[in-house]
Amino acid sequence: MTWQTLDDLQIRGRRVLTRVDINVPLDRGRIADSTRIQRVAPTIRRILERGGRPILMSHLGRPGGRIVPDLSLVAVVDTLSDAVNHPVTFVQELPGRAAAPAVDGMGEDTILLLENLRFMPGEEKNDPNFAAELAALGDCFCNDAFSTAHRAHASTVGVPRLVPSCAGLLMQTELAALEIALTAPERPLVAVVGGAKISSKLDLLDALVRKTDAMIIGGGMANTFLAAQGVNVGRSLYEPDLGKTALAILALAGAEGCTVLLPSDVVVASEPREGVASRTVRAGQSVPGEMILDYGSDSLNQARRVIGQARTVVWNGPLGVFEIPPFDHATIALARFAAKRTMAGDLFSVAGGGDTVAALNAAQVAESFSYLSTAGGAFLQWLEGRTLPAVQALKTQPAKG
Ligand code: AMP
Repeated sequence: MTWQTLDDLQIRGRRVLTRVDINVPLDRGRIADSTRIQRVAPTIRRILERGGRPILMSHLGRPGGRIVPDLSLVAVVDTLSDAVNHPVTFVQELPGRAAAPAVDGMGEDTILLLENLRFMPGEEKNDPNFAAELAALGDCFCNDAFSTAHRAHASTVGVPRLVPSCAGLLMQTELAALEIALTAPERPLVAVVGGAKISSKLDLLDALVRKTDAMIIGGGMANTFLAAQGVNVGRSLYEPDLGKTALAILALAGAEGCTVLLPSDVVVASEPREGVASRTVRAGQSVPGEMILDYGSDSLNQARRVIGQARTVVWNGPLGVFEIPPFDHATIALARFAAKRTMAGDLFSVAGGGDTVAALNAAQVAESFSYLSTAGGAFLQWLEGRTLPAVQALKTQPAKG
């Protein structure tokens, strides 16, 4: 790896500007899910242990460069203090120059939390002046917000140009897992790609057919492939305009030696509703009023066989409408199978994306995958083989600290 870690930087007695992602969901001012806070706690503790003084910076929601009191990070202070088992002092002044007096008065063994970065228009614009104001608050920079790494913002890209920087523990873990899965994977490497539409995942499909040995396609996107092959998909969700694109992806897969699995049998129903009557039919055999809502049992077995031979799996998107039983069956069954192989040491498995995390949680296998990424956009862009600006910025830092 070409970026520095926390152990490489001199941080004793230094103010460590630490970009975290504690953009937690709020429900009437209360934290609905504190996972993101729990995940950055080890990095903050490590900085303290090594004698550094963490100055935490994050965004919360989308205030769009304006002060929105409901999106103040003051809402997370208590939960954050509990997670790191150490008091956290909130800096009420806006991030940047205004926060300097609070930072100057910072004692040893102190954690500061700056106000929502996105209250400042310079953050999302990656304004160099704002980046300089932030950088002036610290002696060095630690980025532990992989989930924002696909955005070139002042706190993710501007600051590391100005001060010595390193990756935090969470960032390191995430980058290492993705590197094992995609840069030097043990083969066969298999992708599971599902979800609603291919239009939102064209770059992903294009990149994955080039890299993987097999690809299991599910969800509404499988319907678009089936329809392109002339299979009747009835009232199913599919994208008729993308037939040619789907065929081009299949042709590319053929040329690249990637075996594509599409469902040969499917679970159909009149609508995606709990308790609705459903049945399994050969793909193409549904009646006009029916919708394809999940992989059938034969297809699920085929998918199991593919995963059964894999050494590495990357997974994004559900195989069916997993929010509504029984259309969650194939996603849960395949996830459990991959988890079992992972636990047996036979498979390295990486999954990510909002719905995928929810689906794997529903299957109660989140802990059994080798790595589960909560970073939606950044995870997808990495899978697509794109350079993430904030990761790049860590690699090209000015000097060793
Ligand atoms: P995405 O955000 O693209 O990963 O899509 C996830 C969504 O795809 C979930 O809300 C699923 O319910 C939906 N989905 C999966 N399979 C189907 C299907 N066969 N028909 C309609 N929606 C589906």
